[in-house]
Amino acid sequence: MFKINDNFLALNQNYLFSQVARKINAYMNSNPGVRIIRMGIGDVSRPLAPAVISALHEAVEEQTSCDTFCGYGPEQGHRFLTEAIAAHDYQARGIQISADEIFISDGAKSDTGNIGDILSLTNKVALTNPVYPVYLDTNIMSGRASIDNIELLPCTADNNFVPSLPTGNPDMIYLCYPNNPTGTTLNRDQLKEWVDYAKAHGALILFDSAYEAFITEDDVPHSIYEIEGATEVAIEFRSFSKTAGFTGLRCAYTVVPMALKGENAIGESVSLNALWQRRQSTKFNGASYLSQRAAEAVYSPEGKKQIRSTIDYYLRNATVLREGLKKAGLNVYGGVNAPYIWVKTPDGMDSWSFFDILLEQCNIACTPGVGFGSAGEGYVRLTAFGSYEDCLQAVERLSLLKM
Ligand code: PLP
Repeated sequence: MFKINDNFLALNQNYLFSQVARKINAYMNSNPGVRIIRMGIGDVSRPLAPAVISALHEAVEEQTSCDTFCGYGPEQGHRFLTEAIAAHDYQARGIQISADEIFISDGAKSDTGNIGDILSLTNKVALTNPVYPVYLDTNIMSGRASIDNIELLPCTADNNFVPSLPTGNPDMIYLCYPNNPTGTTLNRDQLKEWVDYAKAHGALILFDSAYEAFITEDDVPHSIYEIEGATEVAIEFRSFSKTAGFTGLRCAYTVVPMALKGENAIGESVSLNALWQRRQSTKFNGASYLSQRAAEAVYSPEGKKQIRSTIDYYLRNATVLREGLKKAGLNVYGGVNAPYIWVKTPDGMDSWSFFDILLEQCNIACTPGVGFGSAGEGYVRLTAFGSYEDCLQAVERLSLLKM
């Protein structure tokens, strides 16, 4: 009989969102007519920018003629998009990243999950705790790590959500800033410590900046490559999902700098850019032409203005929620440079108990922090991706909270 990949059996069953859905449904069944404000799921709610819609229409129209029809594109992505990204997201910020170092994909989830293909299974891994679960699960699936041999770096109110440098000499370090789920950030000096650590210890930083567009504070770097020397130690993941509402359309990119080199089994230096190019051209046939044209429109003058106004809309939601939660007597984190608000549960309550209280007393659905890792216990996550009206209503309901 054929064998399965046993590593899959070592994964934690991911009950988080199904358990949340089950609890909400049970509550609604016993309280018909009640409207739950859903602040748990990390999906956007605003429509695509008009500039993106026009680009999509044009790209569809091109498909109607033999002269302009577009079939397979370059696996690394169309040049019109990699060049726009290099110019607007990097060179405009004084960062020397070129189009050849950018790889377009269908999502940062795929890229952060797939990147392990080009890295040795003998590498040791470090993750922050709580964490976006993809980094952990994909390392377990590949057999590189088990939950017992991954170094987990706690991020809680006690250390102001700034992880300590690792002690176990990891080879691969996943960092996500602005952070999902805590909504917190590292400033330039703090991120520099990580880059310096990686240089000194020969480690690779896998830097997920899917929420970069939400940064409002000057001292928070938009890219890890703002830090000197980072092109030699870091891969950066970005996505149009939260930046421009592409969660359904799908487009993202990964930066693998030419300067980034790893070692092969006999100690020779090998380009990661070349390996990722080989991996993508073997297992991936490119993101759709339509979504790449749509992503290109994000960088047009109108596109930029339109996506900015949507991001500002979500950030205003975050401010309303933060203030409302504080007024209700709760300690809140994040929500300034991110669409996520991380709330400390009152009186040492566990995450699920506070989830129940918010659901029953305020009819608000959140995500229990413990679902993102053991250091998320005692917190819940609220997202600002809903409507402004819902946020105002949520705040009104929070004022009735009895703890
Ligand atoms: N990285 C982080 C930290 C995320 O929170 C998410 C989505 O929630 C992703 C990546 C996935 O992004 P994409 O939609 O591009 O796959």
